[in-house]
Amino acid sequence: MPGTNLTRDEAATRAALLDVSSYSVDLDLTTSETTFASTTTIEFTCSEPGAETFADLVDATVHSITLNGESLDPAAAYADSRIALSGLAATNTLVVVADCTYSRTGEGLHRFVDPVDDRVYLYSQFEVPDARRVFTTFEQPDLKSVFTFVVRAPEQWKVVSNSPTPAPTALGDGTARWEFEPTKRMSTYITALVAGEYHEVQDVYQGKHGDIPLGHYCRQSLVEHLDREELVKLTKQGFEFFEEAFDFPYPFGKYDQLYVPEYNMGAMENAGCVTLRDEYLPRSRQPRSFYEFRCSVILHEMAHMWFGDLVTMKWWDDLWLNESFAEWACYHAEVEATEYTDSWTGFANARKQTGYRQDQMPSTHPIAADNVDLQAVEVNFDMITYAKGASVLKQLVAWVGLDDFMAGLRQYFKDHAYGNSEFKDLLAALEKASGRELAGWAKEWLQTAGVNTLTPEFALDGEGAYTRLAVRQSAHPDWPTLRRHRLGIGLYDDRDGRLVLRRTVEVDVEGELTEIPELVGETQPDLLLLNDGDLTYAKIRLDERSLATVVDGLSKLDDSLARALVWGATWDMTRDAEMAARDFVTLVLANIGAETDAWGVSRIPTYAAQAVSTFSAPEHRDELRSRWESGLRELVLAAEPGSDAQLTFARSYAAAARSEQAVGDVEALLDGGLEIDGLAVDQDLRWSLVTSLAASGNAGERIEAELERDRTISGQEHAAAARAARPTAEAKAEAWEVAMVSTETPNETQRSVAMSFQRSGQDDVLAPYVERYLAAADDVWDRLGNKRASTALEAMFPRQLASQELLDRADAWLARTPAPPAAKRYVAEGRADVARALAAQERDARG
Ligand SMILES: [Zn+2]
Repeated sequence: MPGTNLTRDEAATRAALLDVSSYSVDLDLTTSETTFASTTTIEFTCSEPGAETFADLVDATVHSITLNGESLDPAAAYADSRIALSGLAATNTLVVVADCTYSRTGEGLHRFVDPVDDRVYLYSQFEVPDARRVFTTFEQPDLKSVFTFVVRAPEQWKVVSNSPTPAPTALGDGTARWEFEPTKRMSTYITALVAGEYHEVQDVYQGKHGDIPLGHYCRQSLVEHLDREELVKLTKQGFEFFEEAFDFPYPFGKYDQLYVPEYNMGAMENAGCVTLRDEYLPRSRQPRSFYEFRCSVILHEMAHMWFGDLVTMKWWDDLWLNESFAEWACYHAEVEATEYTDSWTGFANARKQTGYRQDQMPSTHPIAADNVDLQAVEVNFDMITYAKGASVLKQLVAWVGLDDFMAGLRQYFKDHAYGNSEFKDLLAALEKASGRELAGWAKEWLQTAGVNTLTPEFALDGEGAYTRLAVRQSAHPDWPTLRRHRLGIGLYDDRDGRLVLRRTVEVDVEGELTEIPELVGETQPDLLLLNDGDLTYAKIRLDERSLATVVDGLSKLDDSLARALVWGATWDMTRDAEMAARDFVTLVLANIGAETDAWGVSRIPTYAAQAVSTFSAPEHRDELRSRWESGLRELVLAAEPGSDAQLTFARSYAAAARSEQAVGDVEALLDGGLEIDGLAVDQDLRWSLVTSLAASGNAGERIEAELERDRTISGQEHAAAARAARPTAEAKAEAWEVAMVSTETPNETQRSVAMSFQRSGQDDVLAPYVERYLAAADDVWDRLGNKRASTALEAMFPRQLASQELLDRADAWLARTPAPPAAKRYVAEGRADVARALAAQERDARG
């Protein structure tokens, strides 16, 4: 029973047999509010006439199947999401007439009705294997073809796909037909359809290879938030950079970017038809880190047009390469081509940390995962794929040099355009360009899991100079690989109140211990910083003197990237129970006010908040909580009026508010009794304040009142999250039903509730949800489907109730559950978080 799975072997067999000449996909979007009509005609050849294979189609009512003019009985041929095809000829025509189902989970063809104006918006999301929820496919990336879409829809709609939108033909009944030109050759997972009453604006990029029409689309109710000029500017900067860097014209003609509602991820690289979550068009003030990240998303999807869409992985084994590359390329482009010139610092402060975290989970895996089937892809598609992968590519660039890296890449695009490739093809191109042997490098970095820790080891003479300096490399016993690292080492001194770089060296570190003779004789600096420049991917440790220097005055360090490495090192040490949570909070309170990196300002306070709620010893927690709360109050009041820091500290203060004074401040900010110069209490900040009051049990009627003011989908999602935050048994029961039980909850509402459910300081009302969580985890994967199940299992694990008993219960569950590996993974990760928290609490208790 394959269900919706597909194995790599099945895909290889099918690819060896078939060549898909074309698809014609006829969709009628006017038939109902729950389903649409889908007629697919596939022309394909078969290298072994007489052989059998299958096509894919999920969750459909099939009316007829015709293979080479002969009709097949759907009841017999369509089972288990597959259409069995036997007796194939050398050339074949398959026609399948079906009704498919609109999605409310963001998988397949999602249908959304805007509560503001009742307008209808559809968008498709097909990666990894969901085109088969919309039309009949051979759903695997190496069966590329050309696709001709014909769509019937209400005549006032916009209809957008991979090919340019044609003029519609009115059918006289209020509907119209759009007949698109055939697409370029592409994989099924990057085909797309977006339709509805979208707002559209058009621009043109005039590049060295010709014009590229640029469309931007969003819901009507978001038009005022579409900052078109900024988006067009970034898009043009991206095209100019990539067309030059890749030495290959943009392959897909026009480039539309569509901001769509209830979107599961950041964005998706459909060829020429990129979809992005419409929260990226903010209605309220957002800090620079938000815009820096949005810019990276825009550039990430654009990089995929070449890497992924033009040249595509043969099978999902190389999904990592697709994502890691787009991720590396977007930060590289952001630095080189946009105003976000220090975005590698932001990467170090935020994104890279998610890779380190994931890589220290029991579920970690090599970057290049062995994806034997689609279920394995689900398990292995995570921040190892994105953040660690991009970090390791950054190390590869340091290893071979940027020029050689780019030269190899250009050749690779030329050699494999419109085709499929494997990682070895890229490696061969890079080896040829750089003259360096890379198979060994790939083995230690890509085919093994885990992160190394680099620690300085030294001796001093009577004058305080190094008589010896070495870098010790270690690894977790379960993931023991030691790697070769290209590494910067920086020596910083306190001079006139600033931490100034005296000297930096770049060295190759290999094996357990690497002596650094270059630095023997140097006077010990106030701060010795391993991985200066952040070339490699490794945890770093600070020696005692360096730690004292930064706790005293990290803000004296002018280099934002060096600061990011120190923030990262101290956060790692806290997570690893080598630094007391209280000391980390002290470090943050003393230095965050002077942080200038956008992501540093936004992200570091969330680490400190976690240190307070999770890593502090229970006996010190109340005291630390109140120190954190009052420290934030001072930071808000001291911040420059109107600055990002002020906004971030205000949000953090609201999130931390428990005391009478803080709750009073939050109420007064909402009601206008307290005004802070420069701080606009706009709609999103209002929701942060309302949610804060809800979490502390002080919301009263405010949630419903706020919803009266804000009748948007965003308002509904915020209200649902605020309700889930309340510390009552009824509120938790209601939230549980919405996020873990109901199959009707839309994806983004479910996500909001799940993320808001577990709250620090609500142990009494959360206690029953240990057993309920574990019981639900047995079968939630089948009940809610991949997306919603993973959201619920990840966010709602009872981390707040960290205890040995919880560890034991999780172990017992893991030993006997019938849940699939993808579900077990989230329980194992929650368990690992709890074990980490208990160790950190013990460390914090010692002070
Ligand atoms: Zn991507």
